[in-house]
Amino acid sequence: MDEAYKANGIIHCRVAGVYFHIPFCQSRCLYCDFFSTTSLSLRTAYVNALKKEMHLRSTECQNIRTVYFGGGTPSLLSGDEIGSLLKELDLSQATEITVEANPGDITPQWLERLQQAGVNRLSIGIQSFHDSLLHLIGRRHNAQQARQAVKMAQQAGFNNISIDLIYGLPSQTLQQWENEVEEALKLDIQHLSCYCLTYEEGTPLTKMLNQGQIPSTDDDIANAMYDNLSERLAKTGFEHYEVSNFAKKGCHSQHNSAYWNQTPYVGFGAGAHSYDGNRTRRANISDLNEYISSPGGKRTYLTETLSDTDFYNERIMLGLRTAYGIDVSSLTPLGLRCAQKYIEEGKLCIDGSRIVATQEGLHLLNRIIEDLFE
Ligand code: SF4
Repeated sequence: MDEAYKANGIIHCRVAGVYFHIPFCQSRCLYCDFFSTTSLSLRTAYVNALKKEMHLRSTECQNIRTVYFGGGTPSLLSGDEIGSLLKELDLSQATEITVEANPGDITPQWLERLQQAGVNRLSIGIQSFHDSLLHLIGRRHNAQQARQAVKMAQQAGFNNISIDLIYGLPSQTLQQWENEVEEALKLDIQHLSCYCLTYEEGTPLTKMLNQGQIPSTDDDIANAMYDNLSERLAKTGFEHYEVSNFAKKGCHSQHNSAYWNQTPYVGFGAGAHSYDGNRTRRANISDLNEYISSPGGKRTYLTETLSDTDFYNERIMLGLRTAYGIDVSSLTPLGLRCAQKYIEEGKLCIDGSRIVATQEGLHLLNRIIEDLFE
């Protein structure tokens, strides 16, 4: 395990992260309920608004260790636009700067500009290597573009590349999923994020499911896909360090690890969230026009103060999602009794002073987490 990541037997993240939300997409994927728009005409105004918000909140951006451009589709910004945002920050202590990218947007010129700007990690939204499945979920790239995107990034010198895959897709078989994982491994990447498809309310895919146009995936098949993934990646030297995330040694996502470890982060942009590492959260308004008209203005964000219960529950929820779990001593007596029951059932286990989810427990993690809540 990366020693910078783990110290004294507990998760130790030395990261203060900055997040940029880039809420533009060329088209909407059928399963997605994230906040984004296909009106690309507002892009320049949005980048300028981001800079205004950064200036207003410059005192919050100290000791930056990681930067993450997420979305939406950050690869719809030019390399110069991304570079101009990074220029506004003191990145002298930054060790990880990630940009999420759609395979169809990646070009050698864009990659070169990103590297000049200091970007050292890419997260490529591949989702599947089967064209029929990509088409079914409304992605705008194909499998060949996905493979080429990774190769192009490697040729440009990126040696910290993550890809996203989705399992449990309509009509996807276990054999197809095994092939997806093998294809991913052939690409010699350092990090893999795999998510089970969820049918979010109001999305076109959910409508198709409700109207009987697509079959739902059986839970047992989705669990078998997940187990296959964990076993296969473990054999190939990937650490399963978070419920949906796998990394080669030293290649954990430092930025996301900070979220899971309740470390402070600052989020810029419409719909972005910030956290002070203690009791205060801030959520920027998910309205592009409002945000652009007054970035960082009082009417464009809400703050929330976490109660003791919120803070406790959040620690359980985030900790149990990771391979490092939660400290036994952090549980209330009631929480400990509940954890004991799951330990007896083989769904949680004790690792030193910590409680972690077993592979079986990961299948019903949300229920276990809720049961442990105060
Ligand atoms: S999945 Fe990503 S690219 Fe697709 S609509 Fe959602 S944010 Fe945009």
